[in-house]
Amino acid sequence: MTGIGILGAAGRMGKAIIAVAAEKGVAVAGGVDRGEAIVGPYADAAALARASAVLIDFSVPAALAGHLDAAVAAGTPILIGTTGLGSEDHARIDRAAASVAVLQSANTSLGVNLLASLVEQAAARLGPDWDIEVVEMHHRHKVDAPSGTALLLGAAAAKGRGVALDAVASTDRNGRRTEGAIGFASLRGGSVAGDHMVVLAGEGERIELGHRAESRAIFARGAVAAAEWLIGRPAGRYTMNDVLGL
Ligand code: NAD
Repeated sequence: MTGIGILGAAGRMGKAIIAVAAEKGVAVAGGVDRGEAIVGPYADAAALARASAVLIDFSVPAALAGHLDAAVAAGTPILIGTTGLGSEDHARIDRAAASVAVLQSANTSLGVNLLASLVEQAAARLGPDWDIEVVEMHHRHKVDAPSGTALLLGAAAAKGRGVALDAVASTDRNGRRTEGAIGFASLRGGSVAGDHMVVLAGEGERIELGHRAESRAIFARGAVAAAEWLIGRPAGRYTMNDVLGL
């Protein structure tokens, strides 16, 4: 069992991870995509899991259950980068984390994870008189909205305020803003890798905390580093904060 196994290997992120692994000299055990071997001899997740030291999944939510089952059956740690996950998916991840190490993150870049901790701090310090809105833009092919990263930043703001994001999130505003809402606005078009801005708007002043991803390589680099960190970790659910020491 050596090297990383890539699930969703033919996708935009899968290709970026293969390129980063080559650049950093990290061994790749194989890569599968929809039952096809993209790198190496393995055509399914179960065989790839048995042959890998760690799995990296950037695919689709519908593939999550099969990928987690493969990781658990083989006793292989897994990093989940796929976004658009629902509460059932998170419950599945929690169950898998009882037997193997699982790291789930909607954004594996250092910059966004640092931004999330700044947002949490700002929301905690500024208090409820400041309105919070999260604006994001991504390429025209993105399927989920708001982006997983926008939700991650919204969750950080909610945590700073001591509220649950689900109770205050406003994702499709019609009409007036409601008091205490954390609003989300999603723009789609072109080839944008990912822009996010958290606006904290007070009476007569505004703070804007933002991040621009210039290429997918930042997510791929963070994912490969986090996957290597996961090897040999005890069963449990981890986040990028554990890897980055934030
Ligand atoms: P993509 O559409 O280019 O790639 C997804 C790949 O998954 C495709 O090649 C598709 O064929 C494959 N796939 C579909 N069903 C599969 C299955 N059952 N088994 C294996 N592979 C299967 O998308 P992308 O831009 O590479 O993004 C992939 C996911 O990663 C999305 O959810 C995206 O939002 C997320 N993402 C996360 C981060 C992060 O930092 N966590 C960064 C960028 C993108």
